[in-house]
Amino acid sequence: MWGAGLINGLRITMRNMLRGPITVMYPYEKLELPERSRWAVRSKYFEDGDPRCTACMACVRSCPDHILDLEVTTAEDKSKHIDRFSYEVGACMMCGLCVETCPFDAIEMSHDYELAVTDAPLLSEDLLADVDAASAKRHRELKAAAQAAAEAAAPSAAPVADDAAPTEKGGDDA
Ligand code: SF4
Ligand code: SF4
Repeated sequence: MWGAGLINGLRITMRNMLRGPITVMYPYEKLELPERSRWAVRSKYFEDGDPRCTACMACVRSCPDHILDLEVTTAEDKSKHIDRFSYEVGACMMCGLCVETCPFDAIEMSHDYELAVTDAPLLSEDLLADVDAASAKRHRELKAAAQAAAEAAAPSAAPVADDAAPTEKGGDDA
């Protein structure tokens, strides 16, 4: 029917006339980003403020753009000091491979998307500098404590009721 297209066009026109604006007055207004948005890589910290990074280098090796770099000093007792954990944010493609690779949940894809700078050198930044690296032992202890707390909070296996029906093997009550 030739009028169907006309009616459909009017319907779309009316719908667009009646709906509110979908633009925002950035930077005065900002949209809330979806939870899974991937923007600049950022370091994560323990509750006491110490960095979670153990300087294991896994993220450095996994980055396809080769833009992560760790300068580490290892002491005689094998503890590590991060002199510099650099990140060339201007060359980052926000793929998230470094975050997925990190075995210690020490970095994240943040929602920090306002990355424009006026000086090119600012496109390279330090994720960490002059801090002691976390030990793998500390991570293991925290993981064990969290697991124990989760098990304690979980409902325990349902106890067998006194009047429960005997199982097939329960033939000694005859
Ligand atoms: S998000 Fe991708 S490109 Fe950016 S630092 Fe991580 S691995 Fe490299
Ligand atoms: S951020 Fe994660 S993967 Fe990278 S060095 Fe630190 S602990 Fe290792």
